[in-house]
Amino acid sequence: MTAMIEDGAPVRHPEKIHRPDNPSPRKPRWIRVKAPTSPVYGETRRIVREHGLHTVCEEAACPNIGECWAKRHATMMIMGDVCTRACAFCNVATGKPNRLDAGEPARVGDAVAKLELAHVVVTSVDRDDLADGGAEHFAQVIRAIRAASPGTTVEVLTPDFLGKPGALEVVVEAAPDVFNHNLETVPRLYPTVRPGARYFASLQLLAEVKRLAPASFTKSGLMVGLGEERIEVHQVMDDLRAAEVDFLTMGQYLQPTPKHHAIDRFVTPEEFEAFAAMARGKGFHMVSASPLTRSSYHADADFAELRVRRQARLGAG
Ligand code: SF4
Repeated sequence: MTAMIEDGAPVRHPEKIHRPDNPSPRKPRWIRVKAPTSPVYGETRRIVREHGLHTVCEEAACPNIGECWAKRHATMMIMGDVCTRACAFCNVATGKPNRLDAGEPARVGDAVAKLELAHVVVTSVDRDDLADGGAEHFAQVIRAIRAASPGTTVEVLTPDFLGKPGALEVVVEAAPDVFNHNLETVPRLYPTVRPGARYFASLQLLAEVKRLAPASFTKSGLMVGLGEERIEVHQVMDDLRAAEVDFLTMGQYLQPTPKHHAIDRFVTPEEFEAFAAMARGKGFHMVSASPLTRSSYHADADFAELRVRRQARLGAG
């Protein structure tokens, strides 16, 4: 699909322009974030720009960017800034993507070294147009980071590769420290929230990572406030534990534009605490659940803690 042109500018979400607006409710006090002011924020921005990289922090208009970039924590978004899918919650542009940039893995590696990251999260747009869904490019990026910054642990947040045969194995073979794939929402809401994906395919992908690499850490994330019921979230937790997922993240869905999925409600911090307690009770080694939690939020510190906790449990078991 070619992105439409309006007033000379590319339309970011061509598939959504004819949809009626969903009014955005006023944000509660616990959602407010500070504008970025730190000089380190500016330096992070400069390194990202100099290396010609995209970040999900900017593309998704993440509310935590001021805090994360002040600590140099930028989450790299590889394989371009145009996605082949059109999820109802996502701010990344939809359209026909560009050709893969063969120089990108080395530039990501170099940027990670310059940012002196102890832990980096690498995600991507969906590349259903590629024969392997972009799996080999992911693997190249992992290897390039290892070469440029051997002490950095690598977390990948991947698409589902459209279930293309052999794609998952290529990424697992590159041995990322954490393999994250977000379920995003409860299965009932997939047709409206994540229409290009299948709940059980995503769940199966996570189970398969664990089967292929039993010592690896797996992680998944959910947004709430999209219209899900509490009991449905509990069921998803059970499904994730059945797939032996180690780490669950949960955060409030925020609507990027009025054309995106409506916010059903704002989940309170107390409800997030209750979800976290339930998830811990169900056996996740690590749970991060708060209104502003995102997959990559505090990923460095959380990974360090996850390693310790899983080791302690396995040692005790
Ligand atoms: S939470 Fe993740 S996506 Fe958001 S600014 Fe931080 S690192 Fe970037």
